Amino acid sequence: AGQTEKHGFQTEVKQLLHLMIHSLYSNKEIFLRELVSNASDAADKLRFKALSDNSLYGDDSELHVRISLDKDARTITISDNGVGMTRDEVMNNLGTIAKSGTAEFFGQLSGDQAKDSQLIGQFGVGFYSSFIVADEVTVRTRSAFEKGSIGVEWHSQGEGEFELAETEKARRGTDIILHLKEGEDEFLDEHRLRGIINKYSEHLSIPVQMWKAPVAEQENEDGEKIPAEPGQWQTVNSGQALWTRDKADISDEEYKEFYKTVAHDFDDPLLWSHNKVEGTTEYTSLLYVPKRAPWDLWNREQQHGVKLYVKRVFIMDDADQLMPTYLRFVKGLIDTNDLPLNVSREILQDNKITRAMRNGSTKKVLQMLKKLAKDDTEQYQQFWDTFGNVLKEGPAEDNGNQERIAELLRFASTHSESAAQTVSLDDYLQRMKEGQDKIYYIVADSYEAAKNNPALEIFRKKGVEVLLLSDRIDEWLMSHLTEFKDKQLQSVTRGDLDLGELDDEQDKEQQEQAEEAFKEQLKRFETALGDRVKKVRVTHRLTDSPACIITDENDMSTQMAKLMEAAGQ
Ligand code: ADP
Ligand code: MG
Repeated sequence: AGQTEKHGFQTEVKQLLHLMIHSLYSNKEIFLRELVSNASDAADKLRFKALSDNSLYGDDSELHVRISLDKDARTITISDNGVGMTRDEVMNNLGTIAKSGTAEFFGQLSGDQAKDSQLIGQFGVGFYSSFIVADEVTVRTRSAFEKGSIGVEWHSQGEGEFELAETEKARRGTDIILHLKEGEDEFLDEHRLRGIINKYSEHLSIPVQMWKAPVAEQENEDGEKIPAEPGQWQTVNSGQALWTRDKADISDEEYKEFYKTVAHDFDDPLLWSHNKVEGTTEYTSLLYVPKRAPWDLWNREQQHGVKLYVKRVFIMDDADQLMPTYLRFVKGLIDTNDLPLNVSREILQDNKITRAMRNGSTKKVLQMLKKLAKDDTEQYQQFWDTFGNVLKEGPAEDNGNQERIAELLRFASTHSESAAQTVSLDDYLQRMKEGQDKIYYIVADSYEAAKNNPALEIFRKKGVEVLLLSDRIDEWLMSHLTEFKDKQLQSVTRGDLDLGELDDEQDKEQQEQAEEAFKEQLKRFETALGDRVKKVRVTHRLTDSPACIITDENDMSTQMAKLMEAAGQ
């Protein structure tokens, strides 16, 4: 073996480790979920690579994960015969390169342990979660691409640095050896360990095995001989990928556990939908809506959460062709037989099959949200408060589903005194006045500004509801959403406000008289304001305020102008 080199962890990795070691007291067992899931990923990667080069398997083509215990040494070993890692990969993956977003993650830490451990979950604890229970971790690995039997050994006690050395490793793949901390003895209990592993591996598509120690020949109480049993590997899970099983045979618990692995979340999902689609394009989808927003929801490069499988072989993460951007919070997977195994991102673009799967899955997600809105207002409200602003990108992005998305939108309105966004467009339609033919709304910088805008006075007077919009994205949303169920959406601060049938004859007569009476004043205002305004006119919208500023029907709204100005346009 070569000599040992010492390396320092990258700063953010160091912080992450510090957190694992000192602050994560609840739900410690998740390190097993993470390590078994890494081993299963490594098997998936090898299976994928071997599609084009079968020789990578050598004489070891039965992929599996094996977990064993050594009570005296206080170690748990998780071994796989997957793709393994080269020296460079070990360096990059286990210590010197922080994952994108680690900095943002630290920015969000609150110091409140319960909250922060949730964040770690969202962030994907991964390999470093080993240090929740171990005071010493050894990784021995050999890449499937490395000929010969020289591998790499990585060793660390977690805090500042790790060591790297060459090592003899006969078998391809990775062994992770955890030396348990004082006080973590529960994980040395075989029964307990088996229970946890069973829970986290049930849905994985590769066999996860535990070593069953040999039994010596013995006599029972009645003096009968019980024969000796040799030690052997026993498979703990069924080894069938969850989504390939029949819906009726999968429990909610299994769906939830699977979600936690795919999404790296501590929490249960809010909703899921499992579908086998048959027809011109055949695929299975398992799609989840999380309860909480990921840390990078507002990051434009945020990765999509839907994985692509072809014939049960994992092909790629974050296949962004499979889900529109306004549904980027959806997690899960799509598995199809209709794409070639060697499919690339380029092929996925502009591909008929991809398009069919994307359209189908988009509808599924919108349907499950609609059902939630109908069945459980409270939970839907929780969803809306978390992801509503992302969904608002929908009408602009996905014209074909505009009405389906619009049904899911929620707004504040003059109907209630609260800033909470709880009013749906359907609620609004139901409350429309006799003779009202439009849906009225206002967009402003804040809820208060919207609510107190003088343009609302006439609507209050006539008892007509107005939607109060004040999120950053609202102007963008409303410039694309112009109609809902044959009713036009009309800004109350735009153009010549025609209240249609809501104006009665008497009103009209009074208005004409007023316009006549104010002719002279109007001229004086126009001269005084000059180029700064397009026009000055008598308004019948106001009941308490003397004047207000509006924009022409076809001009940029004042709100949009402010946005453009803020963006430096
Ligand atoms: P993630 O799995 O989300 O990428 P982890 O922290 O769990 O993050 O793992 C970091 C990386 O280390 C993995 O992406 C993978 O490249 C590598 N890795 C971890 N465990 C194994 C393993 N058993 N075999 C091969 N590579 C592994
Ligand atoms: Mg991982």
